[in-house]
Amino acid sequence: MLISELLKKKREGYNLTAEEIRYFIRGLINNYVSDIQAAAFLTSACIHGLNRDETAAMTFAMRDSGMKFDFSDIKLPKIDKHSTGGVGDKISLLLVPICMSAGIAVPMISGRGLGHTGGTVDKLESIDGFNMQLDYDECRKLLLQNNAFMTSQTPQIAPADGILYHIRDVTGNVESVGLITASIMSKKLVEDLDGLVIDMKTGNGAFMQDIDEAKQLAESMLAVASDIGLKMRIIFSSMEQPLGYAIGNWLEIEETIESLKGNIPPDIEELTLKLADSMVLASGINDNVDDIHTKNKEILKSGQAYKNFLKMVESQGGNLEISRNNFLNTPTFEIKSDVDGYVSQVDTINVGIVGIMLGAGRQNVYDKIDYAAGIELRKKIGDKVSKDETIAVLYASDSTKFADAAELLKFCIVIKENDEILIPKLIIDDWYN
Ligand code: URA
Repeated sequence: MLISELLKKKREGYNLTAEEIRYFIRGLINNYVSDIQAAAFLTSACIHGLNRDETAAMTFAMRDSGMKFDFSDIKLPKIDKHSTGGVGDKISLLLVPICMSAGIAVPMISGRGLGHTGGTVDKLESIDGFNMQLDYDECRKLLLQNNAFMTSQTPQIAPADGILYHIRDVTGNVESVGLITASIMSKKLVEDLDGLVIDMKTGNGAFMQDIDEAKQLAESMLAVASDIGLKMRIIFSSMEQPLGYAIGNWLEIEETIESLKGNIPPDIEELTLKLADSMVLASGINDNVDDIHTKNKEILKSGQAYKNFLKMVESQGGNLEISRNNFLNTPTFEIKSDVDGYVSQVDTINVGIVGIMLGAGRQNVYDKIDYAAGIELRKKIGDKVSKDETIAVLYASDSTKFADAAELLKFCIVIKENDEILIPKLIIDDWYN
């Protein structure tokens, strides 16, 4: 089989066979498919889409590109959650510590920043020493000890996703139902799960902006889950504005810590608890939704989740003190409102793009992330704003980045004179198989 012929076939809009897809994925790992060829495949897949059979073949080939965990001896039900990608989405960082005390085990393989969205791996790697490149034995040890681990894909774990993810990120090949399904589900199918919760983002900061597109992605993921009998819940949530106030790797770690200490923005609390409740529900250990919610809220509000977060950071080699000192003197730039009024809209994709311009994400595969970079929003949709009031603060180690970033960010926050504002509903729908 010639890779160039296979690429031509996909470029011309024909469907690939499962054998062709397996050959292509094996080639990524065994170095007979180059990054350039992978980029060509991804572009054609984005343009023409992947049908159900291609998506399933790609998911399973990507899963099988590395090892598969066997946690069958672990007594607790193994449940994970994955987001389809958002701006300011630090929910996993609060969710895992809640679940550590909720009677389930969470073996979480997370993603890096992708397109305009941030990634859990990059956020945790902003903590000095935090090891996101765990091997199988370390994952197992942490799951037994803490009921959870958080890792990246690695050369052993879902390596094909690692390669394709990186290339999609910098070649603008992200918004594809088939590619997102294969990327997320291939990682999750490595984890030996009893259940999976998906946070399906929709709205102007999501890859699937339109609710119908989000439903299409949900159906595609459910189809893969049904092929292997995996229990799944899909929560549709709004990405019409960033979650919380912080966007950027270290800034989001700080917001997570504040939230776990009790100073939690309402949207972060609502979505975190909804997802935590869905994970416990998917585990089958309790089917009383009110009881599950009360217990998860107590874990969050009592400070137990904060203790669990600190335990996880320490167990994975992180040192928050060193990180705090590292980021103490980050240059900042305040953006002020030109008018009186109310925030009526946030252009969330472009807020994510401003974050990348500041250094919080990658513009090419060789870029190093500036973990200090990001945005602190001071206002959310519906908030009153006065002329000359600070509406956002930019952070970057390289202050020459502020001028362009500030110009774009100002356009992202739309301020209207009157207070007739439609505040988007955060939790939109809840599907399960
Ligand atoms: N998260 C992933 O892991 N992959 C995607 O393609 C999108 C979000």
